[in-house]
Amino acid sequence: LHRNPGESEFHQAVREVLETMGPVLVKYPEFADKKIIQRICEPERQIIFRVPWQDDRGEIHINRAFRVEFNSALGPYKGGMRFHPSVYLGIIKFLGFEQIFKNALTGMPIGGGKGGSDFDPKGKSDDEIMRFCQSLMTELYRHLGEYTDVPAGDIGVGSREIGYMFGQYKRITNRYESGIFTGKGIGWGGSLARKEATGYGTVFFTHEMLKARGDTLEGKKVVVSGSGNVAIYAIEKAHELGAKVIACSDSAGVIIHEAGIDLETVKRIKEVERRRIKAYLEVHKDAKYVEDGNIWSVPCDIALPCATQNELNGKDAELLIKNGCIAVAEGANMPSTPEGIQVFQAAKIAYGPGKAANAGGVATSALEMQQNASRDSWSFDYTQKRLEEIMIGIHKSCYETADEFGAPGNYVIGANIAGFLKVARAMDAMGVI
Ligand code: NDP
Repeated sequence: LHRNPGESEFHQAVREVLETMGPVLVKYPEFADKKIIQRICEPERQIIFRVPWQDDRGEIHINRAFRVEFNSALGPYKGGMRFHPSVYLGIIKFLGFEQIFKNALTGMPIGGGKGGSDFDPKGKSDDEIMRFCQSLMTELYRHLGEYTDVPAGDIGVGSREIGYMFGQYKRITNRYESGIFTGKGIGWGGSLARKEATGYGTVFFTHEMLKARGDTLEGKKVVVSGSGNVAIYAIEKAHELGAKVIACSDSAGVIIHEAGIDLETVKRIKEVERRRIKAYLEVHKDAKYVEDGNIWSVPCDIALPCATQNELNGKDAELLIKNGCIAVAEGANMPSTPEGIQVFQAAKIAYGPGKAANAGGVATSALEMQQNASRDSWSFDYTQKRLEEIMIGIHKSCYETADEFGAPGNYVIGANIAGFLKVARAMDAMGVI
């Protein structure tokens, strides 16, 4: 704690992993002797830099940006960039730390990293976004590389922002290096199904958890928080697999539509018009909008938190259980507080933590890197099939590891230990570095 003062989200993420490490260190005492845990908690490199930019009126703004290159035992640093006013070092470090284990779970050759800025994209013009992205990349470019560090999107960063950052990288370096960014647009190095991958993957993982209990998604009522990239494609796949999503949200309020969320309307509002979710009511008069509402008070069978960290606390979890919820899978990173997780585990519902349930995004980013490296592009169906196989594999690995360590059905223990062992073995093999 004293080494990382004030970084509460980072402390929370580390604590959640360390609490599950006891049985691993009993079984593999060499990892304790070699201080693998202490090493894994310390980023290999942290970059903090100034991003000056001018708005449309010529006024100058200064933002702060970060890239935390956390662990490269399994491959180049890999993890998204987040643009949100709440961003500070503690958020990027928690995300980077989670990313190490998540990336290991995918079975792909990628290390863990994360970056972002306290820049707020809301209400900015396209030109302002472009100037900001260009300024940020003018510093960040020197730290990136296909074999070094490969960012992607996250909150506030989609294909528009990635386009501006990638363009500036290409311009500065005079190299068309597709492999330095993932989440690129289709037609300039992007992979089909990458945009959909995190949301789809979360639903594939949910389905696996249900199947392990002899159940399916068919006919289930689902609530999805957020209405961004992850939420939209979680809703799409949940509908395709026979469930009905009845609520979604943004940071201003909640839409409840018992007839089922109409995804085309959500996509138009969020992906094209970039407006607030409240606009859903203009099309669907039978839906209900609750300003500042609590989405977890909507009764459902399955809850998919897909917005942000600590959006679901102990009281929310109790409410979900009281209303009959049987499964929770995290599309977002660390959306449930420790109290929330405790409630889910005590109730013995199926609970899939983010580092397992939302790993489909980064896994498909690794598939994008494979396509870039071989100058190939795969079909949507093929890429989606690979994603589904990877999610089934992650579920199996978490499930079996939980069993092996005496905690059947506990995906937190399964994910943490399965991810840790892969990274620890690689670090051990590489000596004291
Ligand atoms: P987007 O920016 O596309 O969407 C974020 C959504 O969450 C928006 O609806 C946003 O509402 C809402 N939200 C964000 N911050 C808050 C907040 N403080 N309070 C309430 N609502 C909030 O981001 P993504 O969909 O890409 O990311 C969502 C989550 O998924 C994050 O935790 C991210 O780390 C995680 N994730 C994303 C991956 C990806 O591939 N994109 C991969 C793995 C995990 P509003 O517009 O009002 O701010």
